[in-house]
Amino acid sequence: MKRRQILKHLSALPFAGTLFASLLPSNTVNAAPTGRKRNIFKELGLRTFINAAGTYTAMTASLMDEEVMAVINEASKEFVMLDEVQDKAGEKIAQLTHAEAATVTAGAFSALTLGMAGVLTGMDPKKAEQLPNLQGTGMKSEVIVQKSHIIGYINALTNTGVTIISVETADDVQRAINDKTAMMWFLNANTDTGKIKHQEWLDLAKKNNIPAMIDIAADVPPVENLWKFNDAGFDLVCISGGKAMRGPQSAGILMGRKDLIAAARLSAPPRGATVGRGMKVNKEEIIGMYVALDKYVNTDHNKEWQLWEGRVATISNSVKSVSGVVCNVSVPPYANHTPLLNITWDAAKIKLTPKDLMEKLRNGSPSIEVMPGAKDGINITVFMLKPGQEKIVAARLNEELSVALF
Ligand SMILES: *Cc1c(COP(=O)(O)O)cnc(C)c1O
Repeated sequence: MKRRQILKHLSALPFAGTLFASLLPSNTVNAAPTGRKRNIFKELGLRTFINAAGTYTAMTASLMDEEVMAVINEASKEFVMLDEVQDKAGEKIAQLTHAEAATVTAGAFSALTLGMAGVLTGMDPKKAEQLPNLQGTGMKSEVIVQKSHIIGYINALTNTGVTIISVETADDVQRAINDKTAMMWFLNANTDTGKIKHQEWLDLAKKNNIPAMIDIAADVPPVENLWKFNDAGFDLVCISGGKAMRGPQSAGILMGRKDLIAAARLSAPPRGATVGRGMKVNKEEIIGMYVALDKYVNTDHNKEWQLWEGRVATISNSVKSVSGVVCNVSVPPYANHTPLLNITWDAAKIKLTPKDLMEKLRNGSPSIEVMPGAKDGINITVFMLKPGQEKIVAARLNEELSVALF
């Protein structure tokens, strides 16, 4: 019987119509599915998956904790002044990170752009409106970067109009510095590939009175990195909020010198005519970022590391039981500093390419994402797994590798 027929039938009886209608599933009575839990992934036809890959933007990086989501929900219920949210959350963030000041940005990329803007404009709002046109404004226009630190994210700096000056040695730095030099930028992830390390970079900057900025976007853990570079004397420090800290994926933190943070905010919303206007963070994200940071700082990191090692052991023990499989665990020294499991296998024993294995895991149920190995095989990280998912990953890998045995 169709709903209309039921209601027509029931309407013959006094009161019964409303009585029976209330017993029907709510969305047959009411067009909006209010009473029923809405499955948004199904509604949109989206594939969800177990993330054994890591904090990749393309995979939506990390999952926010329930405590963070609860605070975000609370934050969504009241109006407040955007600048006041930044002031207050910034103070708390600065305390947690040993910084003079801090502000929540739209990711580490936006922290780079806004920090750079602040260095260029100082407290002059007119200059903020002139970016990225530096010519004839009196603003400085060059940023010194080690050659091996120049990666795609450097576009966050050039968005403000600056030119990158590439150097390799301390002598190069000294020669490159002139009265157009605005800043010296360091990429922590590439520390090992550059000739000049942190302290020497800072010494050169201080000696020449040039602000130094460091990008530590993916560099927690270790948690100490949240304050280490502020303590060391970097003028500006930029970090992602939605990687290992599991804050909002669209948030990050710019921290450092009070005058530079204030200047950076001249290019940030709610101010409108600036390069940063498209880098809006709402109150929910600002507050969510603060709470995620607070929670992260107060996490038992040793316990968490042991948990990760346990997960890696579960997976490697399972796949190592397949003849010809080799597991290797390493920890990258910079960026995504968590246990990384590389799984390779003897092609003479197992007829499966890494690409095919990744495809089978992706198309299986539940779907699983891993990464290709740097040289061979596949790479797995476990810090984005939900508790227990390591068992599913272990079983699926064992299954696919076993089936492919000659
Ligand atoms: C991830 C990353 C960024 C960008 O960070 P978002 O928070 O996604 O904006 C910048 N620099 C480095 C080195 C990164 O790893």
